[in-house]
Amino acid sequence: MLRKCRNPLVVFLVGLTFTIFPVTARADHSWGDYHWARTSNPFNLKLGDNVSSIWDSHLATTSSDWSASSVLDTSIVAGQAKSRNCRPTSGRVEVCNATYGSNGRLGIAQIWISGSHITQGITKLNDTYFNTASYNTPAWRNLVMCQEVGHTLGLDHQDEDFDNPNLGTCMDYTNNPQTNQHPNQHDYDQLQSMYAHLDGTTTVGQAPPAMGQIDLEGPGQWGRLVSSSRNGKAQTYELDFGGGHKIFTFVIWADGEERGRR
Ligand SMILES: [Zn+2]
Ligand SMILES: [Zn+2]
Repeated sequence: MLRKCRNPLVVFLVGLTFTIFPVTARADHSWGDYHWARTSNPFNLKLGDNVSSIWDSHLATTSSDWSASSVLDTSIVAGQAKSRNCRPTSGRVEVCNATYGSNGRLGIAQIWISGSHITQGITKLNDTYFNTASYNTPAWRNLVMCQEVGHTLGLDHQDEDFDNPNLGTCMDYTNNPQTNQHPNQHDYDQLQSMYAHLDGTTTVGQAPPAMGQIDLEGPGQWGRLVSSSRNGKAQTYELDFGGGHKIFTFVIWADGEERGRR
């Protein structure tokens, strides 16, 4: 788009926007109010189980944690993805783990957007790091599972400072996950407000959008960086297809791997 701009003022403003946006704090903790379209509450979101047995209890914990919300329930169903590529299935969330390699990513979540609605989501948990002593704990597994699935519901982080006291939610970054393994009341309140309205249509369990099957393997395919924690360990990318179609990628970089391994 920049190449088409002839007006230097416009170019300057766009440049300024790109510079400022990543450090702008947001007042609430949904991601741009993106949400699943549905015609009634509580709606049921399927979590496709593509995880190995070591993750099953954490997936179960996360599913029951988020189902405590009054507006939605999640149910664990047979996965439809191969864990290595974790292809999305429209209308639901696929949850995957594998040794994805030393790519820096502890966990990622991706959501596909059409207009203001989420149409599908995935989360990938990287055993390359969870198999190491630093991350091979129930607390780290619960925090990352809970946070990535939380993103697929439309939630953003409550806090991106790793060094301040824990808020008691998995949507809070921390260096010590012990008290941040589950959602807190603020997350449930946030979901309630995001899903207070009903839609005329539903995206839960619906046919795939055209952009479903592209390769999103690394940051080079994730679009522009739109948000980053100060230490670079938590980042959000936006890939904009135009016409209201977008893919957001939320990534937690493993310790020592932050700031955009490319
Ligand atoms: Zn809506
Ligand atoms: Zn996150």
